[in-house]
Amino acid sequence: PGGIRLQKALAQAGVASRRASEELIAAGRVSVDGQIVRRFGARVDPEKSEIRVDDMRVATAPDMLYYALNKPRGVVSTMSDPEGRPTLADYAGQTDERLFHVGRLDTETEGLILLTNDGDLANRLTHPRYKVIKTYIAKVNGPIPREVVKQIREGVELEDGPVKVDSFRVVDDAEPRALVEIRLHEGRKHIVRRLMEAVGHPVADLARTQVGPIGINSLKIGTMRALSPKEVSELY
Ligand code: URA
Repeated sequence: PGGIRLQKALAQAGVASRRASEELIAAGRVSVDGQIVRRFGARVDPEKSEIRVDDMRVATAPDMLYYALNKPRGVVSTMSDPEGRPTLADYAGQTDERLFHVGRLDTETEGLILLTNDGDLANRLTHPRYKVIKTYIAKVNGPIPREVVKQIREGVELEDGPVKVDSFRVVDDAEPRALVEIRLHEGRKHIVRRLMEAVGHPVADLARTQVGPIGINSLKIGTMRALSPKEVSELY
């Protein structure tokens, strides 16, 4: 018979050891294509079956690639550039696979951008319907009066419609430069820069530190790391 045993598929995906995976199966916590499976010997095709543990999708297909890149300033958010500027591909290392970037950052913005060969996931994560929250840290003109904080939290009108942030906080209220954290789930072009400009505190420096459940943590600028199986399953 084809496929591999379910506990092996779980272990390969980094969910747990084989022994612990058997316990998950016995406890009725594992489903394959929507059906709870309690039999250890069940065989699955990890590339075709949708395996879930407690409803959380397990990424089992071995040829799926997921990376976090800390994009430097001056790099365009495409995989190739007719003008010969540095692109994401210059930082994506040696892979023969075609990688898609999940969304874009302005050329002058640094920070987290996800890369994957899973075009489906890339599309889903950028679709407004999924409301993936992105976190940005911006250096802006400071100090920032309370009224401005209130205004941003209540919503700001831009020429192409209102912006509603998921959260806004002042991390360091200094003069002449303050540091603010903005979380929002939309992706209109230059949205953070336009928002801060509209309230009179234009952005001098912008970095993205988080996309959905994935944080940039200590990833150095210009480097890339593979997401862990746990991080990948949190993306689904
Ligand atoms: N908002 C911006 O203004 N620029 C980015 O790169 C991302 C969000």
